[in-house]
Amino acid sequence: MPLEILTVPCLSDNYAFIAHDKQSGETAVIDVPEAAPILSALQERGWRASHVLLTHHHADHVQGLEDLLADHPAKVVGARSDAHRLPPLDIEVAEGDTVRIGEEIGHVIAVPGHTLGHIAFHFPESDAAFTADSLMALGCGRVFEGTMPQMWDSLQKLAALPDDTIIYSGHEYTKANGAFALTIEPDNPDLISRVEDVAQARAQNQPTVPSPLKLERKTNPFLRAAEPSVRDALNMKDADAADVFAEIRTRKDRF
Ligand code: ZN
Ligand code: FE
Repeated sequence: MPLEILTVPCLSDNYAFIAHDKQSGETAVIDVPEAAPILSALQERGWRASHVLLTHHHADHVQGLEDLLADHPAKVVGARSDAHRLPPLDIEVAEGDTVRIGEEIGHVIAVPGHTLGHIAFHFPESDAAFTADSLMALGCGRVFEGTMPQMWDSLQKLAALPDDTIIYSGHEYTKANGAFALTIEPDNPDLISRVEDVAQARAQNQPTVPSPLKLERKTNPFLRAAEPSVRDALNMKDADAADVFAEIRTRKDRF
């Protein structure tokens, strides 16, 4: 049976997620921007956190951990390569490792770029990928630590997940991302209608995360660096896709 997944708004524009396996009662919290909203979501449902999955070391993804653990002594899972700057980990993982929530197996995917040790967790039985600040709704994280080609490779790995995958990303940045995406592909009909949907959702204070991978492939400029329409728009017809990606990411940094 698929995991039941809650989206928990935290801080001003972060998301944490709670993934619950009904049969075993095991429950994973994915990232901990702050403890209070996660604690109340757990309490409301009578769930006990058994695992915390950390995507990367940035404070806005880990700073609520201590307070969460004080009430829920869960096992903390994070990237071995960043263990020196993550909170203390009970389980260190790397690409290809798995985590188990009840009967569900989650696969660890290394997605360096935003940070060097950034990882994503893919739960195929639940069609869920927790991507935080790698692949985001209509965007991607800023490339702080890795290189542009590294980030492009990371996004390619996520883009290659099964068609029905839902992307659980770390921030509510979709509206601003959409405004930028339109500067790259002003005539993309899927993008135009998505931007309208996002405006409507935000006007009603609805989250735009999670989002279907299929929709990201059709509308997210950072996944579309290899598309002829995008290359044309940037006058980069014969460039490497990684270079096109770098150009798009650089423009977004200045946007
Ligand atoms: Zn981050
Ligand atoms: Fe973040």
